[in-house]
Amino acid sequence: MSYTHSIQDIRNLTHDVKQIRLEKPEGYSFTPGQATEVAIDKEGWRDEKRPFTFTSLNSDSYLEFVVKIYPDHNGATEQIGKLKAGDKLIIDDPWGTIEYKNDGVFLAGGAGVTPFIAIFRDLHKRGNTEGNTLIFSNKTDKDIILKEEFEKILGDRFINVITDEPTEEHIFYDGHIDKEFLKSKISDFSQSFYVCGPQPFNEAMQNYLKELGANPEALVFEE
Ligand SMILES: Cc1cc2nc3c(=O)[nH]c(=O)nc-3n(C[C@H](O)[C@H](O)[C@H](O)COP(=O)(O)OP(=O)(O)OC[C@H]3O[C@@H](n4cnc5c(N)ncnc54)[C@H](O)[C@@H]3O)c2cc1C
Repeated sequence: MSYTHSIQDIRNLTHDVKQIRLEKPEGYSFTPGQATEVAIDKEGWRDEKRPFTFTSLNSDSYLEFVVKIYPDHNGATEQIGKLKAGDKLIIDDPWGTIEYKNDGVFLAGGAGVTPFIAIFRDLHKRGNTEGNTLIFSNKTDKDIILKEEFEKILGDRFINVITDEPTEEHIFYDGHIDKEFLKSKISDFSQSFYVCGPQPFNEAMQNYLKELGANPEALVFEE
């Protein structure tokens, strides 16, 4: 089934990431980590469906997506970047992607953090964030999505890694996440691990984690 609904609010979260809030269809229901196919309700774009993850909770009165815009793809996200409140999106039914099972370590690369936004908002609402860690890798500190919110929810269990520039004052970790880094931050590799990001990020994290004895659950965001 598909639903066509108006954008209530669209705003920048970073220089290339938008937060979009949409009217929620009546009776529409989903769980944290689920996604749906989204298309723009405009001539030429209605069949261009792309998967996006809900970042709102089912109990919210709106649907929220956090979307990274890729102008160089000349695709749907470039068009999404030009949308305004009142424009409409077409969404399908929700489907499962990555699901929270137990406390654990969440490893996100860039926009791959979106399923974890919903999962952490849900855990926070239920008072269950303790015992969970988010390791978030970005090219620069300007790319960190919802930094303040994650800091508030997770405190020092929110670990930022910056890959492409040494950060001023070294408030974040510089360089790539590797096996040594994981070993220095994590003592228990038998807990749950959740990985979401671009294909090379996922492959690298899964390989390191498996070598360290973990059994990660992973979702690829971009080939
Ligand atoms: C389950 C799932 C959930 C997702 N949830 C989210 C989410 O919540 N938020 C989010 O931001 N993203 C999410 N993604 C990723 C998101 O779906 C893609 O970023 C989006 O589909 C890209 O659409 P696009 O039209 O801009 O480009 P595409 O459809 O990727 O590409 C359009 C064209 O650009 C070309 N192209 C592709 N890559 C490049 C490149 N690097 N340089 C130049 N040209 C290129 C291709 O040939 C293609 O023909 C999710 C992905 C999955 C699988």
